Amino acid sequence: MSDDIRRRMFNEMEQKFVFDEARNAAYDYADRALERNVFPTDDALADLSRFEEELPKNSGNAMQILQQLHEYGSPATVAQIGGRYFGLVNGGVLPVTLAVRWLTDFWDQNTPLYLSSPIASRLEVITEAWLRDLFYLPESCVAGYVSGSSMATLCGLAAARQRNFERLGWDINSQGFSGAPKLHIVASRQAHGTVNKAIALLGFGTDNVDWVDADEQGRIRVDQVPQLDESSILILQAGNVNSGAFDDFNTLCSRAKKAGAWVHIDGAFGLWAAASKKLNHLTRGIEHADSWSFDGHKTLNTPYDSGVIICRHRDALVKALHAAGAYIVYSEERDGMLHTPEMSRRSRVFELWAALKYLGESGIDELVYGLHERALQFATELQQQGFEILNEVVFNQVLVACGDDQLTTATIAAIQRSGECWVGGTQWQQRSVIRVSVCSWATTAEDITRSVQAFIDARALAQDPAHNQDQ
Ligand SMILES: *Cc1c(COP(=O)(O)O)cnc(C)c1O
Repeated sequence: MSDDIRRRMFNEMEQKFVFDEARNAAYDYADRALERNVFPTDDALADLSRFEEELPKNSGNAMQILQQLHEYGSPATVAQIGGRYFGLVNGGVLPVTLAVRWLTDFWDQNTPLYLSSPIASRLEVITEAWLRDLFYLPESCVAGYVSGSSMATLCGLAAARQRNFERLGWDINSQGFSGAPKLHIVASRQAHGTVNKAIALLGFGTDNVDWVDADEQGRIRVDQVPQLDESSILILQAGNVNSGAFDDFNTLCSRAKKAGAWVHIDGAFGLWAAASKKLNHLTRGIEHADSWSFDGHKTLNTPYDSGVIICRHRDALVKALHAAGAYIVYSEERDGMLHTPEMSRRSRVFELWAALKYLGESGIDELVYGLHERALQFATELQQQGFEILNEVVFNQVLVACGDDQLTTATIAAIQRSGECWVGGTQWQQRSVIRVSVCSWATTAEDITRSVQAFIDARALAQDPAHNQDQ
């Protein structure tokens, strides 16, 4: 690296002007994000062509890079920190967690080992205990901090695979699948796509799964769950990604426990119901499972890159995920990489810890229950306007239809174009439906009413496209 570039970078570190620039741009963004169109305008999308260029031959200017990103990048974002994004199950962001991310980004901690970051190691242990308390999980549970629920589910099922094979006298790590005894994987046809992905990545093959039908709300049908035994891995769901429905954990976890089967619960956004006094009837029985995957970045509203795997059997998780190398020095303290597939890893526990500490038990309850209340409001107001609500709104998800599939699809497109709010579509019981996910702390009662009006206007446009062209 030339002395010139290095000198400039020392200057950037010392003078802080690039960070001031970033901060000013971020504040400018935050000031507009609550009111702006949720999806980028056509002009903003067209401006993305300004990023098309060859890889620069020479070093650039940090200020110009930031300015370009703010001028043309900020308008081409989806306004997810505002209160009217109801598309993917996302979550907004708690201010304190953003601030913590800024500070801890300066720390630039790599967190595989205690020796690479004592502060991360300590907070991983403390946060693990808090999560156990919050969800009423047993003392033996350990947590791994991963990028999201996709990865957390992969880890949970890897631990299950490890343990179940071990009981059959098979070491999957060294022996692999060739000649292995068969494990019995049981999952709902309504399992999330990332569950199928984990099953595929782990080599089970999705064709070898005992798929079980779901009921009209999207819950696994208890009467259809097959006989389980010590080779079984039963995958359940807290929060169906469409309807928000919860499986019957109480019945199925105790049945699985008696049979010696492993239960994994995909609770990406729904596990947080356990932290709400008025909603924890939905998660009754989860404490009898073996592993749980969930996100910080959805319901809890931390920034992205925050998933958690909790596993009752530390040995199984560590055996499934551990790595060795002459230079890797494990310690008596917590070495995070033993609980995750990654080695180098950003210090994602800081934001999770901050969110829990900031909200506290009562604040988490209020956040989670508030999302439910807003979803109920959405459903009630839409119903009053003649929209059809297709699910029991038990949590934060609302499935909406207006007349036939064609009108529903056209209405979704018109809502998205309006910029007033953003919702996506899905298929539900062979129908095209609008899928609403309320998952940001920033969503107010006014946001819901304003969004309902956007639904009404969009439906009118969809019913009468000619009227649309006249305007
Ligand atoms: C979002 C989601 C996932 C995947 O989580 P990521 O954090 O996006 O990897 C898995 N299961 C359910 C039910 C989800 O809603």
